[in-house]
Amino acid sequence: MKEEIDVLMEKIDRRCKLPKHWEEFIKNSTKEHRIIIKDRFQKNLYCTNCNNYFFDKTIKVREYVKCPNCKKKSEVYGMNYNRKSFEQSVILVQKLNKQVIIRVFEIWSYFMENSKKVNRSCIEYARILPGIGKFLGSNVYMNMFGGMTVYHNNRKLWWSKYKGYRYFTHFPTYPYNKKRLLKGTNMEYAPINEFIDKFSYYGYNFLDVLSLAAYGSFELLWNMKLYNLCFYSKDLNKNGSFYKRFGVSKSFLKYMQDKNISYRELMLLRLFQKTEDGVIEKYKYYNINYLRFLVKNKILDEFMQSNNDLHQNEICVLKEIGKYIPLRKLKNYPKGLNNLYIYRDYLKMANELALNYKSRKDLFPRNLISRHDKLQKKIKISEDIEFQSKTYKRYLELVQYTYSDDKYIIFPAPSLESLKDEGRQQGNCVGQLYVTPYIDKETEIFFVRKLADVNKSFITLEFKNGRIKQKELRDHSRDFTKEQNEFLEKWIAYRNFIDKKKKYETKVKDTIKYDLPKQVA
Ligand SMILES: [Zn+2]
Repeated sequence: MKEEIDVLMEKIDRRCKLPKHWEEFIKNSTKEHRIIIKDRFQKNLYCTNCNNYFFDKTIKVREYVKCPNCKKKSEVYGMNYNRKSFEQSVILVQKLNKQVIIRVFEIWSYFMENSKKVNRSCIEYARILPGIGKFLGSNVYMNMFGGMTVYHNNRKLWWSKYKGYRYFTHFPTYPYNKKRLLKGTNMEYAPINEFIDKFSYYGYNFLDVLSLAAYGSFELLWNMKLYNLCFYSKDLNKNGSFYKRFGVSKSFLKYMQDKNISYRELMLLRLFQKTEDGVIEKYKYYNINYLRFLVKNKILDEFMQSNNDLHQNEICVLKEIGKYIPLRKLKNYPKGLNNLYIYRDYLKMANELALNYKSRKDLFPRNLISRHDKLQKKIKISEDIEFQSKTYKRYLELVQYTYSDDKYIIFPAPSLESLKDEGRQQGNCVGQLYVTPYIDKETEIFFVRKLADVNKSFITLEFKNGRIKQKELRDHSRDFTKEQNEFLEKWIAYRNFIDKKKKYETKVKDTIKYDLPKQVA
């Protein structure tokens, strides 16, 4: 497909020449691209429309002024006039064999710094090939807010399919003959003008409709009086039986005509294959994919009875539930349908706790809420147990840095409980915020205590990236005494010594016994 497009585009480049009066057309389309330039020193005014100077002391920049020579009104610019430019898109409609080609160009008018004269650059940037698609040139840049910039350079263009909603067809168009254009194509007798009249509030023009009319089904749908479906001529352009084209039996045709059904309604009809019980009306505003999901799992009616809304969240939750139980079984479990989120959490927790539920009474519990709450408690405890063993492991890693002098001792947080207790005693957040980084080895938490009262919190200290990152007395106080600071300095020296020693030990197997405290003191 991509190569076919490339070949076709090259063919257009080669065979579709610009028309005879193209230059004139461009000139006419850019008549409004003019300014008046004010010279700051000489107070001269220059009109880019007639290339004449005039003189008027009273005129200011940004005013709209009528040129006395050509009588055209233009905006006045100062010395940075060369930053001003104008853009205008224009359209050229051509034909290659039986293919209609709509080519979109941008004219860019700009002003040279010295000559003051207007220059124009005209470059093609979009091609609409009715029946094939819309294409943008590689010189187009679309930003995330839908804004579009066309770059004017001479690089060779390549084309890629455009799937957005821009029309590109409501610009000044080089004159062409509609009848001659469609002659010999499959659009020759298509009800294009009728369509424009019937749906006039859409503001479609002739060229817009070509993108719909280029499919054979356009004319067919119109003649079947399925007017609203004409907008989907491309999707419904399937040959063969009625069923093949519409996905429903021909017995629905009268209903489809009477209701002049939209494509959305056709999708619903396809899904339900019935019109009874007002299903089409009832589900008209719901997301068709979500409905499909529920229908496929045979829980649509039950779901809609329990939940008055159907959004992506509910579908995601249902999909999660579907990992643990076959969704169609939810049909007979209104408690789960009524408490979708709680039920999802219940199944998820049971799985996390490896409870391996198999029986009906576990998978579809009668007292869902209380069983959910029980599992939640269990999860919390098991989390705590996990944290405890991890904190202890961390303690074992760091215990080598325990150090004391004759007044203070410093040691790593030995347990989860001790961290929580430190937080409580000190009024800091070490109990909540630092547990995870501590056990994940992102940071080190040490407690400094007085030897005389080892159980009482005194200083909480965070050691990270080779230095003390935070140290706090009770209630975030930082009024450390000289003695306390000296103790911490000694501890740092001790740590460094331990680390060096470890390095040394790995180098030389030869172990020398150090009397550590003496070495440091
Ligand atoms: Zn003028």
